[in-house]
Amino acid sequence: MHFFKHKNGVLHCEETSVESIAHDVGTPFYLYSYRTLVRHYQAFDEAFKDLPHLICYSAKANSNVAVLRTFINQGSGVDVVSGGELFRALHAGADPATVVYSGVGKREDEIRYALQERILMFNVESYQELHVINGVASTMGIQAPIALRVNPDIDPKTHPYIATGIKQAKFGIDVDRALEWYREAQGLPHLTIRGVSCHIGSQLTEIGPFVEALKRVKELVLKLGDEGIKVEYMDLGGGLGITYHQEEPPHPQEYASAIITEGKALPCTFIFEPGRVIVGNAGILVTRVLYTKEGDKNFVVVDAAMNDLVRPTLYGSYQEIVSVTAKQGDEMVADMVGPICESGDFLARDRAMPCFEPGDLVAVMSAGAYGFVMSSNYNSRPRVPEVLVKDGVFHVIRERESYADLIREEHIPSFLEE
Ligand SMILES: *Cc1c(COP(=O)(O)O)cnc(C)c1O
Repeated sequence: MHFFKHKNGVLHCEETSVESIAHDVGTPFYLYSYRTLVRHYQAFDEAFKDLPHLICYSAKANSNVAVLRTFINQGSGVDVVSGGELFRALHAGADPATVVYSGVGKREDEIRYALQERILMFNVESYQELHVINGVASTMGIQAPIALRVNPDIDPKTHPYIATGIKQAKFGIDVDRALEWYREAQGLPHLTIRGVSCHIGSQLTEIGPFVEALKRVKELVLKLGDEGIKVEYMDLGGGLGITYHQEEPPHPQEYASAIITEGKALPCTFIFEPGRVIVGNAGILVTRVLYTKEGDKNFVVVDAAMNDLVRPTLYGSYQEIVSVTAKQGDEMVADMVGPICESGDFLARDRAMPCFEPGDLVAVMSAGAYGFVMSSNYNSRPRVPEVLVKDGVFHVIRERESYADLIREEHIPSFLEE
């Protein structure tokens, strides 16, 4: 449940009119509801109250430092996938002892940084990485805490680009070889085994694959126990889906009770890395209609584009289109497109929508996850601001970029200056 609703014909974020924010900050912009963020976090956390657990919010879904701080204030740890995300998490105030570091391509400098900061553990994704982490820890004269990220070979029934726990995916290590690699890890002097991890994909709308994955990982944990290898943390990753259109994903309660049933006998602390399920429906992208073109095919040209929100282009994702001021009367079928010079630049395709006119404000719903974080400067478009509403007040938590920002890191070498 989120707090974006029409009141007296105008879309509001909590008690604040979206129109009034657009008037002050201009368009396009991302808009997040603090109350929704907290509510979603707490609903997830509450659902697991009968299981020893740590939530490590997945920073990559939305890594604005104010959003990170919101969850950290609620007691959350952070799941990071790069040195940059670790930097953000620490800047936002995360306790390093609650940070887990996943990803298939950790560089040595990133590993050293995370070791210096004393994070909770690395989720190791390959045999070579195991040795590199051991090597870096050795040069620092310390122990590196690790978990192996296993690939349980489960089809999560989601978009192939975000299915990560199947054999064909680049993520994790084959569950059948994990035992062998744990033995190897145990023999490496600068590694300390802390846990087991898996993350099978994103936007899952069924519980079955999660339970299947847990079963396979549980088997592994029991075998490890037989060999005297103690697993303190069972990291089950993220992946719970949300409603963008007509999906009916399980409520965190249902998800939790299935996990608790299957996992409660294990003497582990469970780690969860939710991202989308917490932030996805807590944010929208607000854009303004520039032009309409009617013909065999109708187009509504808005001032936001694929560089601002790439999900429709990248995954063919559905994002609901809502008029900020409620519109009566006829609908039209149109593509909602941006100003970028690519035919793949669309926010909605062949969609029934109100008969928009130039100047109308449009809300692209469910844009809180994998929205701003995936944005770019393509076509030299300054990235848009992010705004957070709380208790009737809005806060700009990231400024709109300027033209000067676009060229800040660029140089004209002297040989061109003649
Ligand atoms: C992306 C990712 C997550 C979060 O996934 P959601 O679907 O947003 O919950 C969690 N853990 C890892 C390792 C990830 O790569």
